[in-house]
Amino acid sequence: MKFISQTFSGLYSFVYPNTCPGCNRSLTKWEKNICNICLKNLPVIALSNENDSILQTRLMGRVYLTQAYSMMRFYKGSLSQKLIHSLKYRNKPLVGVELGKMFGEQLKPFLQIQENSILVPVPLHPHKYQIRAYNQSEKIAEGLSQTLNIPVVTDALERKGFHVSQTQKHKEARWLEIKNDFIAHKEKVNDRDIILVDDICTSGATIEACAKTMENMNVKSIKLLTLAVAGDHYQ
Ligand SMILES: [Zn+2]
Repeated sequence: MKFISQTFSGLYSFVYPNTCPGCNRSLTKWEKNICNICLKNLPVIALSNENDSILQTRLMGRVYLTQAYSMMRFYKGSLSQKLIHSLKYRNKPLVGVELGKMFGEQLKPFLQIQENSILVPVPLHPHKYQIRAYNQSEKIAEGLSQTLNIPVVTDALERKGFHVSQTQKHKEARWLEIKNDFIAHKEKVNDRDIILVDDICTSGATIEACAKTMENMNVKSIKLLTLAVAGDHYQ
């Protein structure tokens, strides 16, 4: 059923390419991927020198991150949910690039960029990549890279495990399923400041699994940027 609804959504965006994925209104010629009203109404988080409090609490004791930021809160029915849904399931890769650019602008005063920093998008399993035709986290990283001038490295991490859907599972069940899914390539992460990029942080299991695979490697530091962070009820 999920495949059918994704296919239908993909067809919808193919037939109506110039609608805003946040509100379905037609975009004007001055609007690119998201309308100006939706851009103004995004549930953005005011960034500061402090790490995002939800991300920090959620990942504390599980992953050591030198910095962790999220651009938006994510909750059911929110604009952030609609936009991320369109990025993942309605063939709207440019929504990810645009939001990534915006996130980059907001991060400029706070993100500690080093000479050896690289943006590492959380990879998709090759089978999922084939279905979607792009990795949404890579699109967000592309936007971040354009604003922050940090290279994107898409082959530092590889995803081996394939699971149908994880969002409905309890956090322990998700962790057991995902904990051995990733492989880091030593030569790509060696001596680097790794900035992991993901679309949304829910239980934190994906990020923990990515960090775990690098724990015995010579990685300088790990940072995290997620476009959105789900509230505690999503854990
Ligand atoms: Zn809109």
